[in-house]
Amino acid sequence: MARDAIPTPDPRQLRLARGALERIRRRRLREFEAMMVTGFSRTCPVCGYVGEFAPVGEPPRLDGLCPLCRSRERHRLFKLWIERRGAITTDMAVLHFAPEPVFEPILRALAGTYVTADFLRTKVDLKLNIEALELDDAGFDLIVAHQILEHVDHMKALGECFRVLKPGGRLVVTTPVIEAWATTYVNPAITTARERVLHFGQKDHSRYFGRDLKDHMRAAGFVLHEFVSVEPDVSTYALMRGETLYELTRPAGRPIPQKKTRKG
Ligand SMILES: [Zn+2]
Repeated sequence: MARDAIPTPDPRQLRLARGALERIRRRRLREFEAMMVTGFSRTCPVCGYVGEFAPVGEPPRLDGLCPLCRSRERHRLFKLWIERRGAITTDMAVLHFAPEPVFEPILRALAGTYVTADFLRTKVDLKLNIEALELDDAGFDLIVAHQILEHVDHMKALGECFRVLKPGGRLVVTTPVIEAWATTYVNPAITTARERVLHFGQKDHSRYFGRDLKDHMRAAGFVLHEFVSVEPDVSTYALMRGETLYELTRPAGRPIPQKKTRKG
């Protein structure tokens, strides 16, 4: 492969760049401070609040946070999914990993059985490792697992969720995905929290998914439906453009796939 032709700046240029860096940073900070108040009125589908939203995240995403229920973009997308596709009924058993407090009363009211679970947190019904679930086969109609796959061995997690879902049951997942990447980025050389921020976007993430995540989901036996944020929902409910909620259905009558060893 040809080497990249990257030029070497001379020392005078580098001094100029350092000065420019400081000036640009100060100017951007002032601009950003002014932008924090966008003045737009948004609607929160989770709690019903209508009005200005707050910035959230590092770096801040403008209008990302509902000031009343603290929902973020993915929570509002999930609430829209519940309304439009969820069809959660009182004869259903729902398992919710790393439950967001705002959804507990909502799901508890809709489902017949509602079970919360987490690996670390204690104020949940069950302490569970999603890679090795101490649960019987085919016990749940719906499993909710937001922002979990990027922290764990996702193939193990998908396999375990498939196993404990009833045939026809669904797993609902959100996770950061770079659609333009054909393959998921993993890098065993990245070991420190700081390196993980640079490479994976957060100190406790262990990879950055590419669109092959969808192949991994299908390989685990699921049928995939993508619930994507589009306009006018994006501007009305302050969603992230194109954020996708993956709805994975365990098809009726399909056996549990044989365990394969695969990485990534
Ligand atoms: Zn809200």
